[in-house]
Amino acid sequence: MNAVPDIIIAIDGYSATGKSTLAKLIAAEFGFTYLDSGAMYRAVTLFAMESGFVSGESINADALRQALEKDGLDINFGAENRTFIGDRCIEKEIRSMEVSSHVSPVAALAFVRAFVDEKLHAWGRRGRVVMDGRDIGTAVFPEAQLKLFVTASDQVRAQRRYDELISKGQQTPMQDVMANLKERDYIDSHRETNPLRQAEDAFVLDNSDMNLHEELVWVKGLIMGRFGIFESI
Ligand code: C5P
Repeated sequence: MNAVPDIIIAIDGYSATGKSTLAKLIAAEFGFTYLDSGAMYRAVTLFAMESGFVSGESINADALRQALEKDGLDINFGAENRTFIGDRCIEKEIRSMEVSSHVSPVAALAFVRAFVDEKLHAWGRRGRVVMDGRDIGTAVFPEAQLKLFVTASDQVRAQRRYDELISKGQQTPMQDVMANLKERDYIDSHRETNPLRQAEDAFVLDNSDMNLHEELVWVKGLIMGRFGIFESI
C-alpha cells in the first residue's frame, strides 16, 4: 500500500457510473483521502433551494452569488464521507431527486464553479487524494498523475441509481431516474465553464459488466504499470 506514491487520482465520467463507489474503494485500499466534488455542488444547490433562490426552472444567480460572497458556505465532510454544512449533516437531502434535478444548472454557473474549485484545490494540495467529478482531470487538477474516465451503459447507470434511491426509501419511477441522468449529462457536457469531457491522458473504464472487485483489480494493475511498482499492492 505504501508503494503507491503521494499522487492525486482524478476520476471523471457521466452521472451514476459508480465513480464515487470506486473512488471510496481506492481511498480505503491505498490510504488516500476521498473527496466527492459532486457533493459540494449538491450542497450549494441545497443551500440555494433552501434560501429561496430556486423557483421552478429559474435560479436567482445574483442572490446566490451575493450570499456566497458575503457569508461563504462551510461545506465539510465528516465520518464515512458524510457531507455537512456547518454542523448540520445534509447527506440525505443532497441525494434526493429534488436536488438532483436542480444541481446541473447550479453547477453550470461560473461563480459556483470558482467557489467549489477553491475548496477542492485547498484539499488537493495535501496530496494522496482521490477525487471524483466531471472536470477534475481536465480543469481542477489537470496535473493529476492518474486520470480515469468511467463510463457504463445508460441502462446499467439508471438501474444503479434507481436501486440506490430505493435502498434509501426514495421511491422514484425508473423513467424519472433515466430522464434525470440524461438531462444532467447533457447540461454537464454542454455548459460553457469546464464542461464534462474526457481528458486526453485519461484511462477509460467501462464498468457496465464489471463488479467492484474487478474494477479494483483493473485500477491496481494500472497503478502498478504506471508507477513501475513490481510488488503486489
Ligand atoms: O457526482 P454527482 O452526480 O453527485 O454530481 C452532481 C452534479 O454536480 C453533476 O450532475 C454535475 O452537474 C455537478 N458536478 C460538476 N462538476 C464536478 C462534479 C459534479 O459540475 N466536478
